[in-house]
Amino acid sequence: MNNNLVETHFEFVNQNQIENQNQNHTLHSKLKIYQVWPGNNRFCCSGKLFTGPDWKTLIVTEFIFNIPFILFIIFTAYPSIKIIHFSIFLVALFLFIAVNLSLLLTSFIEPGIIPRDTYFSGSFQHIPETKPFEFQNNTFELPYCDTCNIYRSPRASHCSICDNCVQKFDHHCGWVGCDLGIRNYRFFFLFLIFVTLSIFFVFVVSILHIIILTKEKTFSEAFVKTLASYLLTIYSLPFSMYLSKLTFFHCYLVSKNLTTREYYRNIYKDIQNPFSKGCCKNWIHLLFSKIPPSKIHLKSFANYNDLFYVSELFLNGGYCGNQIEINQIQEEMSKIQNQLQNPNEEINENDDPKTNLLDKN
Ligand SMILES: [Zn+2]
Ligand SMILES: [Zn+2]
Repeated sequence: MNNNLVETHFEFVNQNQIENQNQNHTLHSKLKIYQVWPGNNRFCCSGKLFTGPDWKTLIVTEFIFNIPFILFIIFTAYPSIKIIHFSIFLVALFLFIAVNLSLLLTSFIEPGIIPRDTYFSGSFQHIPETKPFEFQNNTFELPYCDTCNIYRSPRASHCSICDNCVQKFDHHCGWVGCDLGIRNYRFFFLFLIFVTLSIFFVFVVSILHIIILTKEKTFSEAFVKTLASYLLTIYSLPFSMYLSKLTFFHCYLVSKNLTTREYYRNIYKDIQNPFSKGCCKNWIHLLFSKIPPSKIHLKSFANYNDLFYVSELFLNGGYCGNQIEINQIQEEMSKIQNQLQNPNEEINENDDPKTNLLDKN
């Protein structure tokens, strides 16, 4: 843990007397949590949209899939209505929507971040590196995260790219540009299924299109009309092999209720996985269980501790966000300090009292 952070905070608490400690929690700034977010995530639309730091790779992934698939719809699926069956076109449209929807949901649904503890009591007691946790007659040692100042829940891990602890952390996906955790893994899995089906569909229909037209017309005539299908066949072959391997791997993980991280680290080599409920129940759980609510409240107002924590990150060069400047944070901190020192002073007309006095949520 950053000792400097603890000490400076401790100083502030002492300066403002013990009776101010409770107010310190309830007085809030005008800034919202997403504006002073200490992790590496990115936000837009006033904190409504949330994604990982490498969101640009999501756009690349969208292009890699969408451009060939749109060409497939225009040059292969649509002409195939007459020569194969009308349903070819409908299936293509369904897969196009399903892939894009599941991809966007994966990327924009908060993966299950565990909020950092931005408040320190001022105690200098040594914090144990691990804390024992009993589950299903097994004892786990929950590690303490020095960055988030919390004991991670079982199956959680800290993503060094996003700089957050995530519940049931699977992995940080470069293709999607964010973490996969307890809240968005379902959509990632559906994305894998739909995109794999799409690629096989493109491959099979393109081959059929070539075969049927080559039988009906001369080779040169057929070649001109099926040029897009030839290119799509070449494009879809390596992708179908890569994606089918990845999808089968994740089907295996779902059957065993394992995360990618747990699989590669061989976490349960000495014990039976206590989170597995059996193959069928694991599948039902993945597809139909209720998604737990998010623990982070991006549109709530930041209190003094949130501001103080981020200002320390700024000063120590550890702030990764791009939403706010240090002087804005310090301005809001001094406003709260003024209110603590002069609780009876009238609030400035320009200040919205709600933003200063309301509790979170
Ligand atoms: Zn990450
Ligand atoms: Zn952490």
